[in-house]
Amino acid sequence: MFDFDIIVIGAGPAGSAAATWAAKGGARVALVDKATFPRNKLCGGLFTERSRAYYREIFGQDFDLSRAVTRHDITFCHAGQEVATLTDIPPLHLTMRLDLDATLFGHALDAGAVDYTGHAISQLTETKITFKNGNSISAPILIGADGVNSIVAKHLFGTAFDTKTIGFGLEIEVPETTQTPANLPVRIDFGAAVWGYGWSFPKKGSTTVGVGGLRAPNPDMKSHMRHYVQSLGFDPDAIKVKGHHLPFGDFRKTPGRDNVLLAGDAAGLVDPITGEGIAFAMKSGQIAAQAALDALAADAPKTALDRHQSGLRDMHRNLRIARTLRRIIFAPRWQKTFTATFRRSGTVRMMYMRLLAGELEYPELARSVVARLPRYLLNSLCG
Ligand SMILES: Cc1cc2nc3c(=O)[nH]c(=O)nc-3n(C[C@H](O)[C@H](O)[C@H](O)COP(=O)(O)OP(=O)(O)OC[C@H]3O[C@@H](n4cnc5c(N)ncnc54)[C@H](O)[C@@H]3O)c2cc1C
Repeated sequence: MFDFDIIVIGAGPAGSAAATWAAKGGARVALVDKATFPRNKLCGGLFTERSRAYYREIFGQDFDLSRAVTRHDITFCHAGQEVATLTDIPPLHLTMRLDLDATLFGHALDAGAVDYTGHAISQLTETKITFKNGNSISAPILIGADGVNSIVAKHLFGTAFDTKTIGFGLEIEVPETTQTPANLPVRIDFGAAVWGYGWSFPKKGSTTVGVGGLRAPNPDMKSHMRHYVQSLGFDPDAIKVKGHHLPFGDFRKTPGRDNVLLAGDAAGLVDPITGEGIAFAMKSGQIAAQAALDALAADAPKTALDRHQSGLRDMHRNLRIARTLRRIIFAPRWQKTFTATFRRSGTVRMMYMRLLAGELEYPELARSVVARLPRYLLNSLCG
């Protein structure tokens, strides 16, 4: 009766993971994307050890590290001043999304997903999508992994995201040959944006420089970016700046409806402190695919959402804790205290680092913050 068991819309990290897991589980899967691969995605491309672990689990092989620059050092700054430089930190893998996503997409095809990339969608229902060329395909379960501007989320809820809580990032790619000296540090700048930060990630052949954070308190994000690029010694007029929304911690409590599931940015699954989204996209894609497989096995496609939601419980809990902790790190009135504590405390620096590298989960961090809170408050009261 249906052309496929599962249609996955979007072939980024969430969609390629979902399609791979579902196809490996024996489902007939269509993988749809309006773009053809390789395609770019605005992103810092930081691929953490958390991402690497999920990659291994989902794709059944280790991530080829020769495709990334792996660093064990980082410099933290605030208002242009160095706060701390750390060495011997957990590995940070810096990737190019053009390359990473093409690899993930390739895995999905190898697993047996049918390629519907380069197909723009003109209409969708809960079980059928129609392409602009007039063709259509159907399946009892749909997975929307179509990013922050998700048409699947729009179809279900009327909007893809909440403009009051959404994040926004700006980036440039500085080619090595024109402006960058060799051996630039991996750098994070607190305070480069309000409720956000700046980053400079040196890679093979270029450096990704960006500023991002909550959109609402940063109506002047472009001038933050200009100032940041200048502070790093680059010419802000030499390279075109690109921008993209990111769901900065405001995940969807109900990630879908009945037989239609959302994963990755479409479900709002980005860490509200570090901005990490690739790992959560892949993991939530896998969780959605498993929910779909289980619902199909039970001959009850409409139970897929309940299964998906219970699969996402731990991730949601982590992101909720992160949203609470974010106030300590990013709230303007706490910035001075946080920076001073960060400068002073090796433990805080290492915890932040382990978090950024994907080695530490928020419940563990929250326990540690609660234990240290009296001292932290005392220090802040004493100036
Ligand atoms: C500036 C910036 C920097 C970031 N830096 C990092 C970082 O360093 N590390 C990190 O882990 N995360 C980072 N993130 C977050 C990360 O980029 C996302 O969380 C991640 O890409 C989400 O993956 P996804 O598969 O859900 O969506 P996407 O990667 O956005 O993929 C969605 C796919 O859906 C397709 N699509 C969209 N609409 C349609 C449609 N109508 N029909 C068909 N296909 C469609 C798109 O073409 C795309 O291929 C950053 C985000 C931003 C904005």
